[in-house]
Formats: sequence, structure tokens, C-alpha cells
Amino acid sequence: MKLHPSISKNIREFFLSLGVGKGVAYMTFGSILVSVLMTALITNIFKDPVGLLGYSIAILVPAVIASVASYFTLSLYFELEQSRMEIRELAITDDLTQVFNRRYFFELVGRELERSRRSETPLAIVLFDIDDFKLVNDNHGHLAGDLVLQELCSACQVIVRPYDVFARFGGEEFVFLLPDTDESRARAFAERLRQLIARQVVVTYNESRMQITISVGVAVLNSKMDTVDDLISRADRALYKAKGFGKNRLEIG
Ligand code: GH3
Ligand code: MG
Ligand code: MG
Repeated sequence: MKLHPSISKNIREFFLSLGVGKGVAYMTFGSILVSVLMTALITNIFKDPVGLLGYSIAILVPAVIASVASYFTLSLYFELEQSRMEIRELAITDDLTQVFNRRYFFELVGRELERSRRSETPLAIVLFDIDDFKLVNDNHGHLAGDLVLQELCSACQVIVRPYDVFARFGGEEFVFLLPDTDESRARAFAERLRQLIARQVVVTYNESRMQITISVGVAVLNSKMDTVDDLISRADRALYKAKGFGKNRLEIG
């Protein structure tokens, strides 16, 4: 017999909220209750009273079996749930920087776009790329480059609001998804970001001091017809323009 997915999900969530200890207690108590009720029913049908001994067995057997069985089942279930969450975390996190990865960004951006269309609220994308990052690797080594990427992400985590998404878009390119943000607010955010990175991301590695700048491309949802691809390509074109105009600046797409 297969339960409806939403029912089995509710049952799983109920036991997760209880924890192992309370879960075992509930299952054991439930088994004892069913056992006693069935004993009473059978006694009634066959008109053959089982007496105190019968009821003691009806209580003790499920008390022992259900508690042991439910303990092992629930412990396994909790371990499984923990592993499932860890795997999900790994699947959406960038290894090096520990920020969200491109895959998760695309998972969320579609959802946010839908929400913005429905609620008629603005939505902005701020895409940025480190300027001349190849030089950091060439002059100081790949490990120094990695360190810069990590420091940059720590700085970005400080300005990200709880409902924004910050993700590694690929290589030395990163992206902010800003719900409820119109063009002027997105521009102000991007400018603050550009200045923050130029001022605060200072990395010392093997006695060399490295500082970076970024070029930023901003795009906002213009019409209900805009797709995720439209938004990203406008931000990408704006970023390309910012690079062309001399880097360490922002453009709106
Ligand atoms: P531009 O200002 O035009 O963006 O120049 P750039 O040098 O930043 O761009 P380019 O595309 O020439 O080089 C990007 C470099 O970023 C090359 C690549 O090795 C480096 N990079 C990408 N991902 C990583 C990473 O995870 N770690 C390190 N250390 N370097 C990376
Ligand atoms: Mg670059
Ligand atoms: Mg690049």
C-alpha cells in the first residue's frame, strides 16, 4: 500500500519535529493502544475473557517490540534526513567560496521572476566580474587568486540582505539577485558594492598585498515578457560595456 505523497510527507515532518525520543514514545504508546483495543475486541467477539494475564501480554509485547523497532527505524530515518540535507547543501554551494553556485542561482531566479510578475514588484540582477584577475594569478599564483575570491565573497556576504541571493556565476564572475529592487536602488547597491570591493578587499599573501576592482552590469525587469535569459543577457552586455569603458565602473543594461 502506498500513501499519498503529501500524507507521507506530513507524517515524516511530524516525526522530524518530535525527535527520536518523543517519536519512540508516541509509536510505543500507539502500538500498546492498538494491541489492547484488539485484545478487547477479540475477547468480545469470541466471548472468551483473557483476564489480567492476557492484557499484560497485550501491553508488554508491543512495549518491548515497538520501542526497540521504532528506535532503530527513527534513528535511521534521522540519519538519512541529515545526509539528505548535507547532500542538498553540497549541491547548491560553491566549493571554494562557500557561496551559492550557478545551479542554485538559476533555480531561484526563475521562481523570483514568476513572483515579481505576479506581484508586479521590481527585480534586479547585479552581475560583476573581477578586473584583470588573470594578473593576480600570473603575478602571485593560483592559491593567491583563490584567497582573493574567498575574501571577496566574505565582503559580499556582509551587504547581502536576507532575501537577496548572492552566487558565484562562474570563474571570477558573481551575481546578486535583488527582489523588490528598482533601477535606482539597484544602481545605488551596485555602486556601494563597487566601492566596498575596491576599498575592503585587500589580501596579503606571501608578503604581497593584493587589491582588486570589479566591473558591474545591472539589469532590471522591464516588462512582464522578460525572461531569465533576457535579464541575464542585458546584465552581461552592461558588464561588457563597463569593461570597455575602462573597468572599475558600472553600467545599466
Ligand atoms: P577582465 O578585466 O577583462 O575580466 O580580465 P580578467 O583577467 O579578469 O579576465 P580573464 O577572463 O582573462 O581571466 C580570468 C581569470 O580568472 C583566468 C582564470 O584562471 C581565473 N580564474 C577563474 N576561476 C578561478 C578560480 O577558481 N581560482 C583562481 N585562482 N583563478 C580563477
Ligand atoms: Mg575578469
Ligand atoms: Mg570573467
